[in-house]
Amino acid sequence: MQPTVNLDVNQTSLHNYSANNKNNHPKNSISDVNSIEGTVSDQVFASSLTALELDLIYAIDRNEFELYYQPKVDAKKSLIIGAEALIRWNHPTLGLILPNDFIPLAEKIGFLNKIGKWVKKTACAQNKAWQDAGLLAIPVSVNLSASRFMEKDLASSIKEILEETQLEAQYLEIEITETSILKNEEIVFSLLDELKNIGIKIALDDFGTGYSSLSNLHHFNGKIDILKIDRSFIQDLSIAKQEDANFIVHMILQLSNHLQMDVVAEGVETLEQLKVLQNYNCNTVQGYLYSKPLPATQFVELLKKQRIEPIC
Ligand code: C2E
Ligand code: MG
Ligand code: MG
Repeated sequence: MQPTVNLDVNQTSLHNYSANNKNNHPKNSISDVNSIEGTVSDQVFASSLTALELDLIYAIDRNEFELYYQPKVDAKKSLIIGAEALIRWNHPTLGLILPNDFIPLAEKIGFLNKIGKWVKKTACAQNKAWQDAGLLAIPVSVNLSASRFMEKDLASSIKEILEETQLEAQYLEIEITETSILKNEEIVFSLLDELKNIGIKIALDDFGTGYSSLSNLHHFNGKIDILKIDRSFIQDLSIAKQEDANFIVHMILQLSNHLQMDVVAEGVETLEQLKVLQNYNCNTVQGYLYSKPLPATQFVELLKKQRIEPIC
């Protein structure tokens, strides 16, 4: 596997990279970036971008993005019951770049829409190919940024992708964060209804880290299907010391049960965390305890087995 580059701690080399590599790009397809098309000339726009931002624009055409898949597990039955698709950028010189290090850049230059479409299409096509090969049929979830979630053509674009890839809607899930649903409730409600009508399930990602959280959740009763409890709560779960995290997780589980939402515990790393969760009747988990996100070629080996045990 290629080394992972943490861009936050590598600003000097990144700056040098940008300075040295700015002119390595053809100048003909900058207008791929939706938001700038027709507003400034390609060349002016290109000269205002860093080398990394330019690389990003060409990354789809150059086949540099890859989806990794992390299983969601029914811990009671030791079965894979779903997967989350997580994007990686295999940069030709910088190595493997994680999404938190390039999604904000993509958003800044208006390229996230295009990446989002690539992600959805690739995840749906991959899932359909696994099903056609006779493997376990599971829903695969994709992450949607708050800005993308608010765009008007979201539902029609998802419909198109499902038609094109021939994947049934029940096998695609969308993960959105609380920030996506905090603003403009009316628009959000109608979007959630549209997605629901298509037959897609919606998960609220990183639950507990936003501001609305518990108090606002009942507004979304019947519209949000799954809550993903953020890793920050899971990592503090303890059997010996009943920390705040135990209490919060227990509360979230009780509330979601009341609202008939399913729950996924994110970032489960230890048997102790799993045990606490199971004591609270939470059996759907995702985390390094079972598997890190894997390239499709490795994830398929897990799918073939269907069963999965904690890595101890
Ligand atoms: P997320 O959606 O909350 O995804 C879970 C993140 O936690 C992933 O990081 C995953 O690798 C990591 N993780 C899973 N289990 C464990 C664990 O047990 N321990 C620890 N320490 N980490 C664990 P990753 O892949 O770096 O993604 C980070 C974030 O980037 C995602 O958080 C999501 O918000 C965003 N992202 C990923 N792919 C996409 C995408 O295609 N589009 C958009 N818009 N955002 C994406
Ligand atoms: Mg997610
Ligand atoms: Mg999350």
